[in-house]
Amino acid sequence: MDFFQTVDLHFQGHQQSIAVYVIPHKEGIALIESGPGSTFNNLKAGLENLKYRLEQITDVFVTHIHLDHAGAVGALAKYGATIHVHPVGAPHLINPEKLLASATRIYGEHMDRLWGKMLPVPENQIHILEDGDIVNLEPLSVLAMDTPGHATHHHAYLVREVCFSGDVGGIRIPGTAQIRLPMPPPELNLEDWRRSVKKLRAAGPKRIAPTHFGVYEAADKHLLDLERLIDEIDLWMEEVMPGDPSVEEIDQLFQAWTEERAQKAGLSPEIINRFEAANPTWMSAAGIQRYWRKYRAVVEE
Ligand SMILES: [Zn+2]
Repeated sequence: MDFFQTVDLHFQGHQQSIAVYVIPHKEGIALIESGPGSTFNNLKAGLENLKYRLEQITDVFVTHIHLDHAGAVGALAKYGATIHVHPVGAPHLINPEKLLASATRIYGEHMDRLWGKMLPVPENQIHILEDGDIVNLEPLSVLAMDTPGHATHHHAYLVREVCFSGDVGGIRIPGTAQIRLPMPPPELNLEDWRRSVKKLRAAGPKRIAPTHFGVYEAADKHLLDLERLIDEIDLWMEEVMPGDPSVEEIDQLFQAWTEERAQKAGLSPEIINRFEAANPTWMSAAGIQRYWRKYRAVVEE
């Protein structure tokens, strides 16, 4: 048996959209990610299927604090778990008000249906992980790797030969080698993202497990493909963005580019639907615009 297991949270009824990875150890179980508050009962049921109880969770390692990754940490903290998080993300788990306000600006009336409740984590249950920190879970250890690009407060976790890549490893769906880049506002940064991918490649994982979704062999090939995708998107931006298009225009153009890429790769409609469930293309338009204006636009005097 593998040293970890996967729980599919069946987010919004979709298969293979959001994962929680479960690592049994001497004292109980550790989770990579909590998923959102809306799938808390699915997480509970998924763990029960694997013969685990919520009370056995000793540690939760969140890659970053976006609601699809960390929304249920407060609920899990009630069962005594320690929540490990990047220093920049920690204050937002202790007091999620700002995080929820900014998510509400994006999702509006759909907030509750999509993400459910996000409860605060008591400060004494938060453990901040810096880059390179190691947490021992007998007989394993978890290495935190600061990996900005998708978000400034992002860690990937290396356990044995597996990289749990959160969102910095891109989005991938079982049944295809295609990768997509989740680029929500406000922290997208392609240069940081490139550096983070190089750092992950240098760490030499054999398998990669993005939160959206699944476990893949040949991690180096995946990461190389990801580097190429970042370059492609960079070129696309160079072409499209100097005209300062509106978010709606960026959305249209990026949707078209994404569809063409899916066609070329021969993706089935079912795989395309799963990609959209895990990472709606429209989310990226505002992220692209903000990134371009902040870092790339040439300001004329
Ligand atoms: Zn994210």
